[in-house]
Order: sequence, then C-alpha cells, then structure tokens
Amino acid sequence: MPIYEYVCSDCDVKFELLRPLSQFAEAASCPHCRQSAERVLSNFACFSRDESGVSSMIGGNPCASCGADSCDTCAM
Ligand SMILES: [Zn+2]
Repeated sequence: MPIYEYVCSDCDVKFELLRPLSQFAEAASCPHCRQSAERVLSNFACFSRDESGVSSMIGGNPCASCGADSCDTCAM
C-alpha cells in the first residue's frame, strides 16, 4: 500500500498516511488540529528494481505514474 505525505497548512506539520490508491485523493485530517491537510507530492519516494536486484529510488513522481514494472511501493 502506498504511503502518502500530507502537510497541514494551519500548523505546518507533515505526516504520512498509509492508504489504498483509491483513497489517495481524499482529504486527510491533521493529527494536531484536525483540519484537512494537503497531500504532498514532492517528497514522494518510489522504489524500482532492475533485473540484477538492485533497488533504485525514483524521486519526485507519484507511484501512480512512475511507470516502473516492479515497484514495490506501487504493488497493490
Ligand atoms: Zn494542523
């Protein structure tokens, strides 16, 4: 299940949520103030593995569009 990162604009707190892809666009509530937080894409890390077994990180892309064939994070 992918991990999504959120940031609360009220208290400037970042937190991560593990949630199914089908819920990624839903609002998450800040653990501190309970206001809705915005999803952060910039720090999203996605790992892929080539045929030699080496894992590499693809930064900056949400897994939904990373295009990796064997991305462990993308695997549902
Ligand atoms: Zn907050």
